[in-house]
Amino acid sequence: MIIIFLIFGLIIGSFLNVVIYRLNLAESLLGRSHCPHCKNKISWYDNIPLLSFILLFAKCRYCQKNISWQYPLMELATGIIFAETAYVFLLNGRLENWLETIFYLGLFSALLVIFVFDLKHLEIPMPVLWLALIWTLFFLLVLDGITFIPGQTIFSSRIFSGNLGGLLAFIFFFALSFGSKEKWMGMGDAYLALLIGLSLGWTKIFFALLLAFFLGSLVGIGLVIFRKKTLKSQIPFGPFLVSGAIMTVLFFDLFPIFQSW
Ligand SMILES: [Zn+2]
Repeated sequence: MIIIFLIFGLIIGSFLNVVIYRLNLAESLLGRSHCPHCKNKISWYDNIPLLSFILLFAKCRYCQKNISWQYPLMELATGIIFAETAYVFLLNGRLENWLETIFYLGLFSALLVIFVFDLKHLEIPMPVLWLALIWTLFFLLVLDGITFIPGQTIFSSRIFSGNLGGLLAFIFFFALSFGSKEKWMGMGDAYLALLIGLSLGWTKIFFALLLAFFLGSLVGIGLVIFRKKTLKSQIPFGPFLVSGAIMTVLFFDLFPIFQSW
């Protein structure tokens, strides 16, 4: 079962690469892929996730220009994350497990697109963010409806926890962005934090943000030490928020200390 999700993830990862490329050029998502250098159409046998990249030795069949490492890395990352998500959430194949799994697969796909887009263009793609917000609201309501126990209060619902988490995270990043005149954080980061808070809920959002700042400072210090960046360079924060969120969802339960929250 897990292997099916791995392969499914590889294929979706390949599609997400197309989304990232065409979002930037405002192209339609339909139609065959083509090489960004020579514009030759890519045949299906040159478009197999991971495999084609290896068989073509990372070069375009027609113009011999290098194919970006983004493509296989994105495919592999999506494959692994999909497999891990199914492993964590698809426990016994009950309806709510399936819904939970589908919810996270969709959310993670959007977050992966945001990760790469922000890294490449220093900007959060807002259409993707809005879609993910609607997706999350819809699934929180459905999951609350299915797991509702009579006598349960609104405070134990996911929609309540999500709205509180989203609000807190948004205010925090809005203050950072506003206070620094968008030098430390952009407004895009505030909306991304809102999405992550909404989907994770208020108990997990703290852990996700802590993780994001920890990863951010680690990478930031690393880049300064290796002189890739100076202290004044702009490093997008979106990728760290995304990493913190995905790691929290997939590994939160591995740390019993946090379950007592
Ligand atoms: Zn080419």
